[in-house]
Amino acid sequence: MKTHNTGYSAKLNMSNQGIIYDAIVVGAGIEGSSTAYHLAKSGKKTLLLEQFPLPHSRGSSHGQSRITRKAYGPQEHYTIMMEESYRLTDVLESECGEQLFINCGCLAFGPKDHPFVSGAVEALSRHGAPHDVFNVEEQRRRYPYLALPSDFKVVLDKTGGLLRADKILQAFQKQFQRFGGTLLDGEPMLDLYPGDIVSIKTTKGVHRARSVVLALGAWAAKFLPRIGVNVPLEPLKITVCYWEEKNGKHFSIENFPTFMSESGTGNNTIYGLPSEEYPGLVKICLHHGPAIDPDNRDGVDNQWVLDTIKMIVHTHFPTLEKEPRIVETCIYTNTPDKDFILDLHPSWKNVVIAAGFSGHGFKLAPVVGKVLSQLATGQKPAYDMSHFKIDRFFKNKL
Ligand SMILES: Cc1cc2nc3c(=O)[nH]c(=O)nc-3n(C[C@H](O)[C@H](O)[C@H](O)COP(=O)(O)OP(=O)(O)OC[C@H]3O[C@@H](n4cnc5c(N)ncnc54)[C@H](O)[C@@H]3O)c2cc1C
Repeated sequence: MKTHNTGYSAKLNMSNQGIIYDAIVVGAGIEGSSTAYHLAKSGKKTLLLEQFPLPHSRGSSHGQSRITRKAYGPQEHYTIMMEESYRLTDVLESECGEQLFINCGCLAFGPKDHPFVSGAVEALSRHGAPHDVFNVEEQRRRYPYLALPSDFKVVLDKTGGLLRADKILQAFQKQFQRFGGTLLDGEPMLDLYPGDIVSIKTTKGVHRARSVVLALGAWAAKFLPRIGVNVPLEPLKITVCYWEEKNGKHFSIENFPTFMSESGTGNNTIYGLPSEEYPGLVKICLHHGPAIDPDNRDGVDNQWVLDTIKMIVHTHFPTLEKEPRIVETCIYTNTPDKDFILDLHPSWKNVVIAAGFSGHGFKLAPVVGKVLSQLATGQKPAYDMSHFKIDRFFKNKL
């Protein structure tokens, strides 16, 4: 294979030439683990490489819960992909013999004319997903402990619910190994050397493969420029808050769905999950945070996030305590348009890049992993990939 001038000129000391894998996936978060699972399941000799000892909580895929939904505002391509993602989650569930999804529904709410809600209703209707649309009067009847402004519109996506995130991550990694895959953790990739056979230099040696998938989460923002890929990725620190109810269990998973809201003003979008992860505590977070370097995640001031989310919870969830009981941290890696990057390296066609999951990549990981495994093995995915191209950021510059 020809390599092109990307400004990348590292030299490899071929000190450790062992086996040649069909594919190496770098990054054992949810996207890399799903990709490795699909590759191994289709008979490919695959290595999954992770920088930290597993499990770890330094990236984006840790924690016990995530929202899943087909309700997607203007980004209907995700509604389309969710159909297969649900099916693949079912398959994983039966392979691992554990419940991975709780179908408690997902509420999307926001100002009446905001495309977040109207777009979601249109997408759900077009794709035959069961849902209810109602006004705030009806919302107060169904969910009296949620206080919304009277000009809001609400849609209940009945396909939605809660994913058991940590169990799904473990299931992908376990099944990957059951299908013959090799998982090495605590071994950071230091460099990548392109060619018909790609070499990955790590702290412990060199691994070689016919193709490589880079699923580096927030670390993509640091590594991709080194291989000539300068995409606008912004890692953000997300403050994950758990709130206690003053009285009762009105936000238990039997009584309350997951939810996403769009305030229509500024960066006040929130999302939440009923109490399930920690007994009696509701998870409600701001969908935004300060920009960070993933290697210095905790050194940044996030007081404004806590102040904003406390104000929102106080206004819209008056039966919750005013201070969060537990606060944890996670990372988003945003692109300017919030669409993922799922594409081949511009010059090296056996290097696949997966990045920019923009705070909504977990629910789609089962299908994203399949798509990435197809890109890594020269197959054409069944989806419109134009949304995920690297060159979308540079079209105007050409
Ligand atoms: C608080 C929070 C709530 C969220 N809620 C939802 C939700 O409700 N629904 C939803 O769909 N999505 C949600 N998301 C988004 C979703 O969790 C992420 O999109 C997804 O986890 C991204 O996974 P990833 O594999 O890209 O990144 P990561 O999980 O960070 O994985 C990347 C991995 O690559 C490894 N790595 C990096 N560099 C190297 C290297 N040089 N060598 C070896 N390994 C390396 C890292 O250590 C890491 O393990 C949420 C995210 C957060 C933070």
